[in-house]
Amino acid sequence: MSRNQVSKADYYEVLGVTREVSETELKTAYRKQAMKYHPDRNPGDASAEERFKEASEAYQVLSDGDKRAAYDRYGHAATGAGFNGGGPFADAADLGDIFGDLFGEMFGGGGQRRGSRVQRGEDLRFDVTIEFEEAVFGKETEVKVRRRENCATCRGAGTTSGRGPTVCATCQGRGQLRYQQGFFSVARACGNCGGTGTVITDPCTTCRGETRVMREFKMNVKIPAGVEDGTRIRYSGEGEAGRFGGPRGDLYVVLSVRAHDFFERDGVDLHCVVPISFPQAALGAEVQIPGLEGEVTLRIPEGTQSGKEIRIRNEGVPHLNENGRGDLIVQVLVQTPKKLSRTQRELVRQLADSMSVENKPASRNMLNKMKDLFN
Ligand code: ZN
Repeated sequence: MSRNQVSKADYYEVLGVTREVSETELKTAYRKQAMKYHPDRNPGDASAEERFKEASEAYQVLSDGDKRAAYDRYGHAATGAGFNGGGPFADAADLGDIFGDLFGEMFGGGGQRRGSRVQRGEDLRFDVTIEFEEAVFGKETEVKVRRRENCATCRGAGTTSGRGPTVCATCQGRGQLRYQQGFFSVARACGNCGGTGTVITDPCTTCRGETRVMREFKMNVKIPAGVEDGTRIRYSGEGEAGRFGGPRGDLYVVLSVRAHDFFERDGVDLHCVVPISFPQAALGAEVQIPGLEGEVTLRIPEGTQSGKEIRIRNEGVPHLNENGRGDLIVQVLVQTPKKLSRTQRELVRQLADSMSVENKPASRNMLNKMKDLFN
C-alpha cells in the first residue's frame, strides 16, 4: 500500500482531539472512531475502511509516548520510515485484533484472540516419585514448585512508568508479519513483540518487562489411595500466573511409583511368588507371609501343585475413590531340595518306595489343561 505522506491528515485531527489530549481522552476518541468506522460495521464501505485505518494509525502513534513526541516535533516525517515506510500495512480486518481489551469490550469478543496481550498462564508439570506403599494407601505430602508469579514491583504490568505497553512498531500491532510469496500472503508471528502486538519500551527493572518472576511455593499434594504409576493429578489454577489479567494455568502432578521388592500390581490386585516345600504342598499348610500391612495367612491346600495361584481376598490395593480392595494373588512354587541330610534322604527314599508315578508324556496343551484343573 502506498500512501502519500504529504497528503496525510493530521493525527490529532483524524481522532478529533486537541494536541493536549490526555491518554484516556485519546483512547476514548479512538474507540469512538473505531466503532464508527470498523469494517465489520461498514461492510463494503471503502471510505469507512480508510477512515478506520487512519484512526488506527493515528492512535498507534499518539498512544506511544516516544512516537507522539517525535510526531509533535517532526510531523509525519518522524513516523514515515520506521512506522509506515517499507513494512506491510495492517489489513483493516486485522486491525480489529490490535487492542485486545479495547475491542474485546467493544464487540463483545472476549476470550483470547490473536494480538491480545491477555494470556493464560502456562500449565505446569511437576513430577513426584512415591513409594509403592504410598501409592497403595495414599499419602499427603508437601511439594515445592517453582512457578511464575505476577511481579510485585510492577504488579504484573511489566512497567512502572504507568505508560503501559505500546504498539509494536515492527508489526504495527498485528502480532504478525505478512509476506507475499508467489500468489500467497504468508503470515508469521512478529519477533519483536513475540506475537502480542505490543512492546514494553520502559520495562520494570525487577521482571525486565516479563510481568512475572519465578517464585517457589509450597503446596500440599494429597495422593489418593490406589493411584498407579503415571497418574496425573490436576490442580486447576495452580499453574503459572497469567499475563495482563489472564487466568492461571493448571498444575499437573505426575506420579511415578517405585517398584516393590516383591509385589507387582495388576490394577487393584497384587501378585507375588512364594516358595513352599514339597511336604507343605503335599500335606497342606498355613504359613505367614508378609503382606502390605503386616503378616497375612497363606492357606496352602493339601495336594497343591507347583505354580498354583492362591487368592487372598481383600489384601490387595484399595479401589481408587471407592470402597473395597483388590486381592493378593500368591503363586506358590514347590521347591525341590538341593541338599538333604542323611535322615532326610532316607525319609524321601521311603516315600519314593511307597509312591508310584507314571512318567507318561503329555502334550504341552494337556499340561496347561491340567494346570487349569488344579487351579
Ligand atoms: Zn515487574
